[in-house]
Amino acid sequence: MKNYLLTPGPTPVPESVLAALAQPIVHHRTATFQSLFQAVQKQLKWLFQTEQDVLILSSSGTGAMEASVTALFNPGDHVLVLQAGKFGERWAKIARAHALVPTVLTCEAGQSFTAAEVEEKLKELGRVHPIKAVLFQASETSTGVRLPVREICAAARAHGALGVVDAITALGVVDLPMDAWGIDVLITGSQKALMLPPGLACIALSARAWLATESSQMPRFYFDLREERKALSKNQTAWTPAISLIQGLHESLRLLQAESLAEIFGRHNLLARATRAGVQAMGLELLAKDSPSDSVTAVRVPQALLAMGKKIPELLHKKYGITIVGGQDELEGKILRLSHMGYCDRFDIVTALAGLEMTLLELGHPLKLGVGVGAALEIFQKASARK
Ligand SMILES: *Cc1c(COP(=O)(O)O)cnc(C)c1O
Repeated sequence: MKNYLLTPGPTPVPESVLAALAQPIVHHRTATFQSLFQAVQKQLKWLFQTEQDVLILSSSGTGAMEASVTALFNPGDHVLVLQAGKFGERWAKIARAHALVPTVLTCEAGQSFTAAEVEEKLKELGRVHPIKAVLFQASETSTGVRLPVREICAAARAHGALGVVDAITALGVVDLPMDAWGIDVLITGSQKALMLPPGLACIALSARAWLATESSQMPRFYFDLREERKALSKNQTAWTPAISLIQGLHESLRLLQAESLAEIFGRHNLLARATRAGVQAMGLELLAKDSPSDSVTAVRVPQALLAMGKKIPELLHKKYGITIVGGQDELEGKILRLSHMGYCDRFDIVTALAGLEMTLLELGHPLKLGVGVGAALEIFQKASARK
């Protein structure tokens, strides 16, 4: 049986990246590594659409989220957290762990925030104390919604706050021009759209954000972005980097650059639209109706199958070798999430939809085999006819 990985991290790794990961180790304090690092730096600036340094940390994405908090703030600082799901909640937890005072704006699962809501909240909070930053996700992976990054960053800036963006499932999926949109902190992780195994986080700070680091007194050592920036000026990292992953990153970014940013965003949008059409044709309801993310589609388990909600991903995995994920916490057993991010193409989507149809039918969901697949194919066919 073949395996198909359609989870929103980790994602599949292309063959040439796997080969790059298997290269002999080079020493990190050599000219060979420095030139690799310099090349990767240039590639990352392209992906982040920034003139700023892009720091590479040896950690999963959460490490960079925490590093941004200890870099920018002081204990007692007030921040606004936009919590559209689990990962928004993570921002609040990190903020509290470092004695910040987060105000958490929540919404119903599957909903997003408007810039007007954020603006309103900032205005209200700003009357009592200055708000240092707005912390949020560009794409909330737990519910499959996208947030209006450009508008939220503009609202933050208008209130003297930094816009700190966890783009771990958005960078390399949708357009996020860091400099042009005035994003102050932009973060991603290796196991999502970068098509690598887990283990690297990348983070860039705007000039305004670097200025804020100068007045931060937070305790930190390993994740000290100022140290990383100093090392980066010599094409080095502060500590021993995950050398193999950086070799892999060079190759994955080469693949992405061969495609162009516009094509990458177009491809993800096409896969997302086909997935959404496919599941809806099966009679399933999208969790994120208004602002669906192009990286992951979250869909509600049909009412009649709720008791078996957790079994659906299990069956898909066991019987068909297709790995998707369900929901977490209060969404456990209630939703299914299919990723279309990174090294994923049309026929991965067709396969996943086919497996899902067979599984749902088997569990008693009424559908005509092929409806979901057909709806996705319609979209792919239209797109390929246009080329
Ligand atoms: C995957 C992910 C993270 C990072 O989680 P790690 O387990 O630390 O890699 C953070 N935010 C979002 C939105 C994610 O999807």
